[in-house]
Amino acid sequence: MLQKTSHFMREANYIDGEWVPADSGQTIDVNNPATGLKIGTVPKSGKAETARAIEAAERAFHSWKKTSANDRAKLLRKLHDVIMDNQDALAELLVLEQGKPMAEAKGEVGMSAAYVLWFAEEGRRVYGDVVPSPWADRRILVTREPVGVIGAITPWNFPSSMLARKIGPALAAGCTAVAKPASQTPYSGLAWGALCEEAGIPKGVVNIVTGSASEIGDELCTNPLVKKITFTGSTEVGKILLEKSASTVKKVSMELGGNAPFLVFDDADVDRAVEGAIAAKYRNSGQTCVCTNRFFVQDGIHDAFVEKLVARTNQLKVGPGLEEGTQQGPLIDDKAVEKVEELIADARAKGARIAAGGERHALGGTFFQPTVITDATPDMRFMKEEIFGPVSPIFRFAKEEDAVALANDTEFGLACYFYTSDLGRAFRVMEGLKYGLVGVNEGIITTVEAPFGGVKESGLGREGGHQGIEDYLDTKYVCIGGLGL
Ligand code: ADP
Repeated sequence: MLQKTSHFMREANYIDGEWVPADSGQTIDVNNPATGLKIGTVPKSGKAETARAIEAAERAFHSWKKTSANDRAKLLRKLHDVIMDNQDALAELLVLEQGKPMAEAKGEVGMSAAYVLWFAEEGRRVYGDVVPSPWADRRILVTREPVGVIGAITPWNFPSSMLARKIGPALAAGCTAVAKPASQTPYSGLAWGALCEEAGIPKGVVNIVTGSASEIGDELCTNPLVKKITFTGSTEVGKILLEKSASTVKKVSMELGGNAPFLVFDDADVDRAVEGAIAAKYRNSGQTCVCTNRFFVQDGIHDAFVEKLVARTNQLKVGPGLEEGTQQGPLIDDKAVEKVEELIADARAKGARIAAGGERHALGGTFFQPTVITDATPDMRFMKEEIFGPVSPIFRFAKEEDAVALANDTEFGLACYFYTSDLGRAFRVMEGLKYGLVGVNEGIITTVEAPFGGVKESGLGREGGHQGIEDYLDTKYVCIGGLGL
């Protein structure tokens, strides 16, 4: 199995087109969450390596920005093809370090390719304006230019596609990049170096550095050559990066935490709602920022919904991601399991009932039983905290406005979902929910064509859609005078 992935499993930084170790020669171990065993190592780099990567990206920027949008699109289309030609090998590598089921990993790699292709095309549609001039002898142009070198910091839950959403628009816009993947899942990040090489992306355009998050992060945020920081991760780290980026007034895009509510109204199609719930909750074992954190279910449909959700939850096949038929992999590490246990213990102590699961899985390690908890109340910790695990807490409600108020009672505002067959209610609730992404009678809504991103403390900026390239562009106003017209 490793033979197939070995070409993409790089144990070195990718700087200026070279594969290089950390200056100190030090490394970080990377483990397989399904077995707890070491897969390999990656460089433990810091400030110096990051600074060199930034300088390489800056040198490459001067020529990359001058290539035509069409030529960049051609290279990005090639990058898309290289990803798809190697979808299985890349998915296997992703499962090995991240743990998700193979079907989900293949889906993620497919999404990565789809983002690259989308932005290959969007890059050709970076239009400016010719503005009607208030002066007879002057003309006004508005043009768009790449911002320059960007720093990208990505998390472990979607180690491939989160980079695609950043590298894709950056390269399409004419920017160059220095990326830092998460230390738990660095290989899917480093694989982008191998993919870029194979696609013929010029050296220095994409650089990837692994190692100390704070040292690499500090350098990316404070080095004046970097013009933009794009980050996906926790709100806590996002705030640190925002503060650090302030010193050089960088552009920032932040995809941060969520606390997604999932509302089921009496008039909903209960089977459809349960299917949506399974997808919106248990994908990646509940470890996504758009995973449902709180179910609010109306009195009249509550018992039927719970019964069906429990039955479907108990059917989920838990196992190593590479095993045929697995639907739930392990959690990323012990800390994640401990957090889930703490939240369940807190709910139990406050009167919740465990209707399914609730314990570590018999497979051991970081496997956890898919769990349903009923009689949830707002004083329980998961009302405010991200679970990031396979736990469905169910709150019962009577009135629509109470459910919407509870759903909004969080500092987060990324994804939300609701199920109803009443058109008036659909619009009322959609307009009442303070979220960046809304699924109406749908549990999985992410797609490259649509803008992904949050409001409130869930972030700044959008990824995907035609909006996803905006943050990689500066606007320039040009006034041409003395035309003697
Ligand atoms: P998660 O809770 O999903 O692990 P984090 O926000 O902790 O999310 O991590 C997301 C990314 O941010 C990872 O690549 C991680 O290494 C990086 N990171 C964590 N702390 C810092 C920091 N102080 N500065 C820069 N990057 C950081």
